[in-house]
Amino acid sequence: MNIGIDLGGTRIKTGLLHEGMIVAKSIVDVTDSGSLASELPGIEKSIQDMLRKYETGKEINGVGIALPCLVDSDNNLILSDYVKYRDAAKLDLADWVNRTWGAGLIIENDAKAALTGEMQFGACRGASNAVLLTIGTGIGSAVIMNGKLLKSRNHLAGNLAGHMCIDYRGVTCNCGSTGCAETIASSWALPERINSLHPIESSYKRETIKFNDFRSLFEAAAKEDKLALKIEKDCLIAWSAVLINMIYAYDPEIIVLSGGVLGSAGRIIPYLRNEIDKCSWLKKNNIQLVVAQHPDWAGVMGAAWLSRI
Ligand SMILES: [Zn+2]
Repeated sequence: MNIGIDLGGTRIKTGLLHEGMIVAKSIVDVTDSGSLASELPGIEKSIQDMLRKYETGKEINGVGIALPCLVDSDNNLILSDYVKYRDAAKLDLADWVNRTWGAGLIIENDAKAALTGEMQFGACRGASNAVLLTIGTGIGSAVIMNGKLLKSRNHLAGNLAGHMCIDYRGVTCNCGSTGCAETIASSWALPERINSLHPIESSYKRETIKFNDFRSLFEAAAKEDKLALKIEKDCLIAWSAVLINMIYAYDPEIIVLSGGVLGSAGRIIPYLRNEIDKCSWLKKNNIQLVVAQHPDWAGVMGAAWLSRI
């Protein structure tokens, strides 16, 4: 039995992995404390409730934690800050896991955990070379090459998608660089995109702009809203550039698309498929482009899976 924990920005998901299957799942809402320490009792309770309900009596072999930070998974170190869990890097999570469940801990970046989950249980099962893109608030990515998660000196490799420069004359990104894909085609950038294309007074804007996330943006575009169509097109071009750059960088056999854009996959996938076939040097349909099979739970599944070792 292994435990998976996915520390998201608004929700913390936990699950139990037993004999290759996720047998129980639970969700805890994140409080606004900004502290992971204050979340630990709630996480612990949700897992104990699952263990009681599942009545396994089985030994816990390991606990995997996924979180949206740069992570040194070889040494279980959290290397970057995350506003919802400012104290995460200072906590002795291995000690918490050992005291609570008598098990070892593995920490991993959430995109890497999600790709592992999709690889073991979902959309890219059996693949040896895969890329996962999560497009939502930001753009996350992870890479498996020759059957192994791509890792590197500063744990940045594979994290390219959101912060590849696709407009060197563009706006400054939250990473400090300029013209990153996230500045054009992630939902955190939408208000600025709307503002730059439609600079009108804010109360009027609140009445007239009916979209503030990808779902509502694509709904408005489907209704021929001119501003939504313009932003949608920019996003599609940006995501195509991201995909093609990821293909040249990592040469995957399959690309898994996940995140907040999935609700609009019907408008996105055909466009991206066409761009991949048009622009890459590869034969048509050489690369599979699929949607995630477990968009909400792949992180938990992958974290639990990684903790087996
Ligand atoms: Zn950036």
